Amino acid sequence: MHGRSRRLVDSDELWFGVHDAMYNVKALNMQGAQWTGVVTTIAVNALRQGLVDAVACVGSAPGDPLKPRPMLALTVEDVLASRGVKPMLSPSLSVLAEVEARGIRRLLFIGVGCAVQALRSVEKHLGFEALYVVGTNCTDNGRESGLRKFIKAVSDDPATAIGYEFMADYRVHIKHSDGEGLRYEKIPYFSLPAGELSNGVIAPSCMACFDYTNAAADLVVGYMGVPSQPVPMNEHTQYVTVRNAAGAQLLASAAQDLVLSPTASSGDRAPLVMQTVLADDAAALGAAQKPAPRWLGEILASVLGALGPKGLEFARYSIEYHTIRNALYTRRHFPAAQADAHVPPHGKAIVAAYDGDEAITRRVAMRPKAGGNDTSIMIAVAAAVAVLLAAHFLRHV
Ligand code: FAD
Repeated sequence: MHGRSRRLVDSDELWFGVHDAMYNVKALNMQGAQWTGVVTTIAVNALRQGLVDAVACVGSAPGDPLKPRPMLALTVEDVLASRGVKPMLSPSLSVLAEVEARGIRRLLFIGVGCAVQALRSVEKHLGFEALYVVGTNCTDNGRESGLRKFIKAVSDDPATAIGYEFMADYRVHIKHSDGEGLRYEKIPYFSLPAGELSNGVIAPSCMACFDYTNAAADLVVGYMGVPSQPVPMNEHTQYVTVRNAAGAQLLASAAQDLVLSPTASSGDRAPLVMQTVLADDAAALGAAQKPAPRWLGEILASVLGALGPKGLEFARYSIEYHTIRNALYTRRHFPAAQADAHVPPHGKAIVAAYDGDEAITRRVAMRPKAGGNDTSIMIAVAAAVAVLLAAHFLRHV
């Protein structure tokens, strides 16, 4: 769909996939979205301007803003009903039956990487005149039981939670609505109850995913590549990756409602990546630790936020950590030949860059102890703070 494969050498495509351009972006005129509503703004414009006849997107189940309900939007009002992330695995392709039944020939599909991969694999059978795909970044999604467990374990008021994000300020921001207004609860990663969250929150499929940045979409919207700003997430800049001409056309169609600016990148992810992987994997093998007290968690998050990688460098850190973690998971859980076929070239290249001393390969044979954890980012990042501080001070002596 892009006319070429990704450049793995001397290119940001190793991390972000095939692209023609990347921008920071904010939507100007959209209320009630997850962030500033770039995805919804693009979808509304594509429909209004007749680029497409319908939008396949994800609304909410009746009475439950967190539970996904795939829907086919035929009007602007329908598209607006899909604003906001429902942080659960969504059977997004189920709407294709309705697309076929209605004879829709020009479609905009919005989805995360796994849904987009599945769509691309059947696209040739669907007979579209035009298919546009807007993707979002996605990692560490889960089943409904996982989401409920997460919210119950971390939030001060699970009943009013309508969304959350793991932000680049090393805190989880939980968005609450009590019907009168929005409130943001912020919890440092280090103070999350790692032991409780280490099982059954992230879906096994997401532990074997290498498509964080949604490589098969025409255009991708996310937040992790933008330096953290001291504003609520619905005012916070996002970033967009334009992969091909269809993506550029989508962005141009919404130009009057978007502000684009150059991307930013600073700091050094290198000291953090393997420290995070090693500490996280130690936890996965059974070394559960207590969460940091809140005051300490706040200090750690602030230090890491000030000294750690920012913007695209933070995104590279997150992509590399998740890629290596998932390569380890895949090599432990799949037969060797299947694991080899499953990890894509960009995943192998990222692993190889950190496996010169075979620190990753040696861990493949290690097995979780009974009752051990799947993952524990909090412990991992706490260790990484120490490394980062050391690296920072060594550079300045
Ligand atoms: P809005 O304008 O509010 O539109 C949200 C869109 O998301 C809607 O069109 C809706 O159809 C779609 N959607 C909602 N729920 C789902 C779902 N369960 N599955 C598929 N599509 C859905 N960005 C990062 O940078 N890092 C991440 O780790 C990350 N994880 C994500 C995990 C999930 C499950 C999802 C859906 C998104 C994730 N994102 C991530 C993207 C980010 O949260 C926002 O979706 C993106 O920045 C767009 O924000 P917006 O304000 O433009 O969205």
